[in-house]
Amino acid sequence: MLFSLAGLVPGAGAWLLTGNVWIALPLGILSATLPLVVLRHRSSTRESSAVHLAARLSNEQEQHEATRQFIQRLLDVVPMPIYVKDADSRVIIVNRAQAERWGQPCEAVVGTRSVDQMPDPERSRLTLEEDARVLAGEQIYKEECVSEEATARERFSVIAKGHCTDAEGNSVIVCARFDTTQWRQAERELQQALEREKLLRQRNQDFIQRVLDVIPDPFYIKDGEGRLVMVNEAYARDRSHRPEAIVGKLATAVALNPELSKDVASEDAAVLNGETFDKEQRHIVPLTGEARFRLVSKRPCNDMDGRPLIVVAHLDITRWKVAEAKLARLALEDELTGLPNRRHFLQESERLVSIANRHGSPLALILFDIDHFKHVNDEHGHAIGDLVLQEVANRLKTHLRSEDLPCRWGGEEFIVLLPLTELPMAIAAAERLREAFSAAPVEVRGHALTITISGGIAQKHDNEALGECLARADKALYTAKGAGRNRFLSA
Ligand code: GH3
Ligand code: MG
Ligand code: MG
Repeated sequence: MLFSLAGLVPGAGAWLLTGNVWIALPLGILSATLPLVVLRHRSSTRESSAVHLAARLSNEQEQHEATRQFIQRLLDVVPMPIYVKDADSRVIIVNRAQAERWGQPCEAVVGTRSVDQMPDPERSRLTLEEDARVLAGEQIYKEECVSEEATARERFSVIAKGHCTDAEGNSVIVCARFDTTQWRQAERELQQALEREKLLRQRNQDFIQRVLDVIPDPFYIKDGEGRLVMVNEAYARDRSHRPEAIVGKLATAVALNPELSKDVASEDAAVLNGETFDKEQRHIVPLTGEARFRLVSKRPCNDMDGRPLIVVAHLDITRWKVAEAKLARLALEDELTGLPNRRHFLQESERLVSIANRHGSPLALILFDIDHFKHVNDEHGHAIGDLVLQEVANRLKTHLRSEDLPCRWGGEEFIVLLPLTELPMAIAAAERLREAFSAAPVEVRGHALTITISGGIAQKHDNEALGECLARADKALYTAKGAGRNRFLSA
């Protein structure tokens, strides 16, 4: 019977029925790889049915082979080695990259067990053990490092092994290897660069430390919280420590004189705000109890990472402070006798005169001069003369009241200003002084020298300038000399 029927079955394709043969034209014909499917009619002879089945089988095999080749092509384009093993660790699929690793063509590897080729039996045992774990569901992700035989260069790879089932539902092991040598090398180079950088930083730090240690006075750097970042030897030594033992501590925690630390927080805040800070401090050295002076200078600064720091330098200024004090004293004091000098006397007397004027209180002057002092120098030498002058000053100091103002007026001439003193009291005082000399010789280096003095006494008149009063006393002194010396005359 010959008949024909043509129609369209949605999703399946176009069907053409001719006699006892159905010809199916799947829409998938668009894909060049799929062949025309020819099916024989069910009601045909047994012979024609066998032919039909064989054709179908061959077609399926072709499809299967095409799919396998497609998968192979796919895997071959992947640059990383990949292979699939069955439950017996036999290779089922391997890509070109993996076959090259093994040094064989793909076809030669399929069906073999890579573990059988391993020269090290321990390694093949471990691999089989690992395969068993993968089949049990474990995911392996491990790194391997092997040394290339030809170049002895290390090659790193990450090996991933997982398990899945094939088309028939059999468990298979999928292995993939990623070459991580480049990343590992980059990582190593980065690590080396970091280490070089660290070393350089350390060497710089050591150099700065050596420079700081050369500074003889304490020098230190602290961070924004007041913690010591760097200290020199002098700073650490004052605190009986090694520098490294106190770095990291709060500067206030190792301060020698905690009472000097009370303003540190506000000072530091100002310095961090950009202000400079210089302050003189008197401090006590704890071990010796010695008083010393220092100039503390603080400056803001940033570290390599831009963090704010405070740089503190101490300068021991004790020597200069002592010299300064001595200079100030010398400016007012007679160097030989230690008595107030003429400058000091004039300054101080001006003050005392103004008080006396304000209160209408009396004030007197005694001016005296050593008799024949030239003879002392001539007979015993200038050095003995100096000692005599010192002794005269000592006797003067002991015979005066604390409120009296003595002065080495010049040469061997002395003056005393007596506040709250009227002329009779001043005469009595001068007389006591004169007697103190004439009664007892001055002992100098084994010499007993009889010293006499002559002078003039004057009480300052109301509204009289001190200079005028002094001129009257000087005149009286001159008269006393003329009258035979060893005497005081009042003006
Ligand atoms: P007169 O009784 O008239 O005051 O006799 P004089 O010898 O004391 O007086 P003159 O003015 O002739 O001499 C003062 C001497 O005092 C001369 C000078 O060398 C000495 N003289 C002044 N200053 C110093 C000093 O600082 N040290 C010493 N050793 N002698 C001094
Ligand atoms: Mg004299
Ligand atoms: Mg004189």
